[in-house]
Amino acid sequence: MIPSSSTSAGASHGAGAPAPTALVKDGAFVGQLMASLSIPVFVLDTQARVMIWNHACEQLTGVPAQEVIGTSEHWRSFYEHRRPTLADLVLQNRSEDVRRILPRSASDISPTSLCIESWFDMPRAGRRRYLAADASPIFGADGEIAAVVETLRDLTDEKMAQVALEQLATRDGLTGLANRRCFDDTLHAEWSRALRQQQPLSLLMVDVDNFKAYNDANGHLGGDECLKRIARAVSSEMRANDLVARYGGEEFAVILPNQSLKGAAIVAERIRCRVEQLQLPSTAPTRHVTVSIGAATAIAGPENTASQLVATADAALYRAKHMGRNRISLPLSEAA
Ligand code: GH3
Ligand code: MG
Ligand code: MG
Repeated sequence: MIPSSSTSAGASHGAGAPAPTALVKDGAFVGQLMASLSIPVFVLDTQARVMIWNHACEQLTGVPAQEVIGTSEHWRSFYEHRRPTLADLVLQNRSEDVRRILPRSASDISPTSLCIESWFDMPRAGRRRYLAADASPIFGADGEIAAVVETLRDLTDEKMAQVALEQLATRDGLTGLANRRCFDDTLHAEWSRALRQQQPLSLLMVDVDNFKAYNDANGHLGGDECLKRIARAVSSEMRANDLVARYGGEEFAVILPNQSLKGAAIVAERIRCRVEQLQLPSTAPTRHVTVSIGAATAIAGPENTASQLVATADAALYRAKHMGRNRISLPLSEAA
């Protein structure tokens, strides 16, 4: 520990004590300083070789300093496959690359310093971690880069808590599907996109037939199990950009971006068949649990709204019920 009087500007130092500037130039002092930092730090020289790998960095990465000092193998501590660390990018003056590759996580401290927040593989630690990394150049007296220092902060716990909160806010607790709020947000986002791109947007409303009777026969927990099975069956028919949500009690909604009504009808029929094939025993009036589905499609424009799309799909669902259930129904104008 360096007494504060020996580091404060202008303070006199004892005859035997080294001047502060001499202390800083002393490698042992720097080594001890780094070792005592609780923040993981490593330093690269101009050849991208590790000069310093402090104790906190050893603990974070699971890689001892003696193994990595003098080598350029530091990337192995963070990634499964070879790629430059942030410090390497600063050294190579490739700040623009970071901004291009990670536009949302990269931010400027100065034109030459970089910071990112990201998941790292951490192969030796054996567990992915979410780290904040900052890399800054250290300039020599000649103004040239002499080294680059990278500091790391482990934000895994905070990130996990944030992800869990987001899950809670957007997922339905029973089925794991998107919840109603997430459906509303996604529908409006997709509506705006469809408007911009002048692409069709389709919607399916899926309602379990006679579910009250199923509940009465199997109990509420049996009903819950049935909803989970149906949720999985509906999800299994989705493409990557589609969204399945639990719209309400025993009702699901499916958003199909860039899908025509014809395509939506095909998806709806596949969902109907898939649920029927689950062969979940039902008492009445059919032997197995079935669903009815209403479909609707719109080309977004200034004269229509996302709410109208929901109303049209709902009306089609109502007709499917009215016509006897276990069927799909299209909007009246299309069905004729
Ligand atoms: P229809 O064919 O006309 O849709 O008839 P239905 O019986 O399915 O419709 P109704 O609206 O009469 O009943 C829906 C039932 O769904 C009643 C409600 O208790 C049940 N339900 C809603 N949410 C849940 C849930 O989370 N778990 C269980 N087990 N049942 C639920
Ligand atoms: Mg129902
Ligand atoms: Mg219903």
